[in-house]
Amino acid sequence: MECRPGCAACCIAPSISSPIPGMELGKPAGVRCVQLDEQDGCRLFGDSRRPRVCGSLQPSIEMCGTSRGEALRWLAQLERLTTTPPSPDTKTRPHTLFRCDATNMPL
Ligand code: SF4
Ligand code: SF4
Repeated sequence: MECRPGCAACCIAPSISSPIPGMELGKPAGVRCVQLDEQDGCRLFGDSRRPRVCGSLQPSIEMCGTSRGEALRWLAQLERLTTTPPSPDTKTRPHTLFRCDATNMPL
């Protein structure tokens, strides 16, 4: 399926562990990415600073549903189900849904 214009649910509901310009520690779940513009488009589209995980995310009926609201609810639920508590010896956030490891850190 095609990405729904003006949806941006996957730029709001999930956490993203990769640094994003303006969100150097990554994006917490449920927080609008600072790189979303007024039309809910990504300001970093085509920019090498865009987290690779953002580019790798493909729209699907399972994730996107039939409306922005459905996508937000599904992604929020997925975030809750996949988030693990933070380790006591780390200061990083307990991001799991869109975790980036060494092989898919931002370009
Ligand atoms: S949730 Fe799906 S439709 Fe909405 S912005 Fe993300 S990829 Fe596009
Ligand atoms: S960097 Fe762009 S694609 Fe990634 S979460 Fe932010 S607005 Fe969305």
